Amino acid sequence: MRDPESRFVADAMLGSLARKLRIFGFDTRYHTRGTDRELTSSAKAEGRIVLTSDRQLCNQRDSSLHVFLITGRSDRERMLSLVAEAKSHGIQLTEGESRCALCNGTLMPSRKGELREQVPDSVLRRHRSFNVCMDCGKVYWKGRHWSRMRKFLNLLRSKKI
Ligand SMILES: [Zn+2]
Repeated sequence: MRDPESRFVADAMLGSLARKLRIFGFDTRYHTRGTDRELTSSAKAEGRIVLTSDRQLCNQRDSSLHVFLITGRSDRERMLSLVAEAKSHGIQLTEGESRCALCNGTLMPSRKGELREQVPDSVLRRHRSFNVCMDCGKVYWKGRHWSRMRKFLNLLRSKKI
């Protein structure tokens, strides 16, 4: 049986990392409003791991909640620190299907014919598979950026950092 997918809630400082995690296939809520207490109690209720760059929040950890301290200036460094934290907490990171980078919605495959209004012809010609966010309607295609990111995730994994 597969491990359950890892789910996160990222604090307000980590918006860019949150968007990347969604593309990697991690269900990631982005906590932009509300107190730290609201952040931790909703994380507990939803079974999410808290991602924060706030050391104070990290020190408030209780045993029923995982809080990862995310350090680094670039998302690459932050991703490395996330993987290191997962290892030190003994958590296996398991991703699912890519999600919408903007809203964390579920993506569904879409036919080219249905996208003529939203996507430029040049893009329709160059790519074969398209996905549409069920929540906000944003269209995604697997361009070079997408495959670079998936490659990066596999690299992190193969190194077993
Ligand atoms: Zn969306």
